[in-house]
Amino acid sequence: MEIKRGIGVSPGIGIAEAFVLDSEEIRIPERSISPERVRDEMRRFDEAVDRTRGELLLLRDGVPDDIRGIFDFHIGVLSDEVRVLRPVRDLVGSRHFTPEHAVSRVFRPVAREFEEIGDPYFSQRVEDVRDVERRLLGHLVGKKAERLIDLGHPVCVISRDLSPGETALLSRSQVAGFATDRGGPTSHTAILARALGIPAVVGLGQISSQLVSGDTVIIDGSAGKVIVAPDPRTLDRYRALAADLSRQGATLAQRMRRLDSVTADGVRVSLLANIEFPDDIEGALSHGADGVGLFRTEFLFIEAGGRPSEAAHLGAYQKAVESLGGRPIIFRTLDFGADKFPGAGPAAGPREDNPFLGCRSIRLALRELETFKIQLRAILKASARGPCALMFPMVSSVEELRAARMVLKQVQAELKEAGVEYRAATPVGATIETPGAALIADALAEEADFFSIGTNDLVQYTLAVDRGNPAVAAYYRPHHQAVWRLIRHVVETGARRGREVSICGEIAGDATFTMLLLGLGLRMLSLTPHLIPEVKRVIRAVTIEECEALVRRAEAAPGADEALNVLRAAWSDVTTRWESE
Ligand code: PEP
Ligand code: MG
Repeated sequence: MEIKRGIGVSPGIGIAEAFVLDSEEIRIPERSISPERVRDEMRRFDEAVDRTRGELLLLRDGVPDDIRGIFDFHIGVLSDEVRVLRPVRDLVGSRHFTPEHAVSRVFRPVAREFEEIGDPYFSQRVEDVRDVERRLLGHLVGKKAERLIDLGHPVCVISRDLSPGETALLSRSQVAGFATDRGGPTSHTAILARALGIPAVVGLGQISSQLVSGDTVIIDGSAGKVIVAPDPRTLDRYRALAADLSRQGATLAQRMRRLDSVTADGVRVSLLANIEFPDDIEGALSHGADGVGLFRTEFLFIEAGGRPSEAAHLGAYQKAVESLGGRPIIFRTLDFGADKFPGAGPAAGPREDNPFLGCRSIRLALRELETFKIQLRAILKASARGPCALMFPMVSSVEELRAARMVLKQVQAELKEAGVEYRAATPVGATIETPGAALIADALAEEADFFSIGTNDLVQYTLAVDRGNPAVAAYYRPHHQAVWRLIRHVVETGARRGREVSICGEIAGDATFTMLLLGLGLRMLSLTPHLIPEVKRVIRAVTIEECEALVRRAEAAPGADEALNVLRAAWSDVTTRWESE
């Protein structure tokens, strides 16, 4: 038995066989396929080549003429029959290698060939060859994640990293938990794990190369531990614990569903759901959500396997609006880039050194106007079916917000001219995810009907910490008072300018922060649905006055860690009240 420690990002316990999912940069283990699978695997390889080529063509078309040559080189490598395509097919066809393994075998000598020439021009090409290999493997591995759906028995997925796209696909399969080498507490992969209720531990360093498929593992997402090959006593103890946890969670959810979300002194607090797919709404309602405060629409690209058509967007949005039966929904427009599907969907662009500071979210949408307009059309059309609002992600200036609104206006005019029904008064909001946006909230209020504070990014940009990097996870502190000051500023500005302010970052679902958020003046929280019962339980137990007093104490704490201790002490005090419920 061996215990490995990482960052617990999604609570709960998963016990199952390990399934080690190869990822793009690790050594692909030698695995073979049965002769009957050769045809299917060949087809899978050809599809991956086509998709990689499509991605590269898109990249090439998006860059200035003088650097197109870089991508021509990439495309040339990918199309090289003699050095690449035929050798891969031979290895799959005659030696029954998996395409992933064959690709890694074939690309390595090609890269080495360039390396050994010893000329600076060719040395630079080595990285390009590796890039093509990574992209191709990315498509193959993506397919592999889809194949998990057919596993037929629960597994714990072990991987170097999981992209948000892969994580979303895992949800459709029997995944008891997952553990990754990389990742931070609010990476999108972690957020999805919580949303799906899959126990997860990230930032484990080397776990993907240390485990082999078939090992029994326990993933303890609450304690941030992975136990490999547990002894029988440990296994029994964890099985009992898992059963207990699931019973307790179900009982709390059932009890809280019937109760209103009001503080002990009668102040109503809206609890909305963060969702990725329309199908998540049923679960959100069963956990007592008052509506949807954040629909991360970019995940539709995974289901569509590329750019969804307007009809696909519309189908999803109408379904969401209708499943809510008159409750409100906020569609966040495409928030691609950074850790969300880099190099895929409309986000395909030249690789950036600092993608979190790069062309992401609204910046990308304003470049990909056609994709953006298709989505806006679909949201507006869906607005005819029920109350909805839309918001633009990562707005960082007034000009940007105006530009996005202009595109929206254009789409509205086109719909009007075509006689298509939509709600002209659909509210338009901005997410506040950068310190800059928070500080100019008054100016943004001129252009936005409401604000939603995205603390996952706000913390990252305020404290200069990559939200997905385990090496700096300790610096990622939503309890840093600088973050609170920004939140307070936005809430106060919103109140002054008559703009509703909600919060949709992960702290909205962390019960330790609930009193703080109420004390800062927030009355609308949007969170992972299954965390609603616990947050509601805190809301019902406290008064606004005591929340405000708590904020004063925590703000006066000399440092962020002391401030967190103040929050924790208050939370623990609240939990003692539950015992007498
Ligand atoms: C946020 O940044 O807080 C947010 C809700 O958006 P996302 O996590 O999708 O970046
Ligand atoms: Mg964000």
